[in-house]
Amino acid sequence: MTAKVAGAVLRSPCDGQWAAEPGLGVYIHIPFCRHRCHYCDFNTYEGLDGLHDSYVDALIRTIEAARCERPAGSVFIGGGTPTLLSPVQLGRIIDAVATSVGIDEGAEVTVEANPETVHAAYFEALAEAGVNRVSIGIQSLAPHVLDGLGRTHSVHRALEAITQAQAVGAFEVNADLIYGSPWERPQDWQRTLEGILTLGVDHISAYALTIEEATPLATLVRTGRVPDVDPDIQVDRHAVAEQLLGAAGYLRYEVSNWCRPGRASTHNLCYWSAGDYLGFGAGAHGHLGGRRYWNLRLPRDFIAAAEAGDVEAGHESVDDRQAEALMLGLRLSSGIRMADFEDRFGSLEERRPAIEALLAEGSLTQADAWLRISPTRTMVANDVIARLI
Ligand code: SF4
Repeated sequence: MTAKVAGAVLRSPCDGQWAAEPGLGVYIHIPFCRHRCHYCDFNTYEGLDGLHDSYVDALIRTIEAARCERPAGSVFIGGGTPTLLSPVQLGRIIDAVATSVGIDEGAEVTVEANPETVHAAYFEALAEAGVNRVSIGIQSLAPHVLDGLGRTHSVHRALEAITQAQAVGAFEVNADLIYGSPWERPQDWQRTLEGILTLGVDHISAYALTIEEATPLATLVRTGRVPDVDPDIQVDRHAVAEQLLGAAGYLRYEVSNWCRPGRASTHNLCYWSAGDYLGFGAGAHGHLGGRRYWNLRLPRDFIAAAEAGDVEAGHESVDDRQAEALMLGLRLSSGIRMADFEDRFGSLEERRPAIEALLAEGSLTQADAWLRISPTRTMVANDVIARLI
């Protein structure tokens, strides 16, 4: 793959700007969790430990069958809980990508980790397997918020997982946070951010809690046992994050993502720059040259289909790539570089009247050929974008 330092693979710095030529992304889905969190609607299942080996074999079979003309600029192993697999299993998956698709020199290789499934030796083995970035699901540093969300790790374990990852010296570390849950008080969010800042992580993703249909949390809200989330409170929480993280030197490069300079996620940037990505694993989506596809969702179905050589459940062509690319690119603080955007997705002339109207009212700004959403309109970015597409 590329030069290793103490077992880790150095990754290229990423400034978080919209990319005219995003690298190829590879997403790999691990659909297993030890316990389902109350708010989660991801494609993940409890109690399937007995499937881990056959799932990894099936995954590798589909990766080996993939044909691609360029190597990956980023690999992201997400879930579910990828760290329910052993570092050896994760290493086999990464090796399969390196052999069959190719992995660029300096590519970002991320594994999502849950605090209760990792320890110091685990992280060391992960670095040996070629991982250079870990994204740790912290969510909150308030015990009652973790309880409400149905998280099973303690605050102590969450902090310890971060310091153990950092001690290896091989990873960029992302802390995944959730704000605006019904149990969270203003001081809980403030202390969570301050606690994470104390550890000096490289990257922070902070998402407003949404109540997804068919989750235990949705039932609790519908039956009045838990109050619904309050969008105004969530706007306030985002402002607190903006203020505290900004003062600590973090740059917000996307609506919900902050980083130290040069530490933006290459893989995220591939998505937001409307780049191509391959999706492997149960329920994973991929996108190549305007063709979007998705795999069978259930792990057992996926394993059986991998034997037969076809795991795809469906596909579609993206009718309006320009609209989709605008929707993604304008989430970035940089916005889009107009000339490069038009080279890739066609002229914006038809949208010019809408752009002019949004510029005139201050929802969009244009400077140095970059078109972006005004910082004051970040929390209504979706409304602004909807008026463009
Ligand atoms: S650990 Fe993550 S993927 Fe698993 S149930 Fe909780 S939120 Fe969902």
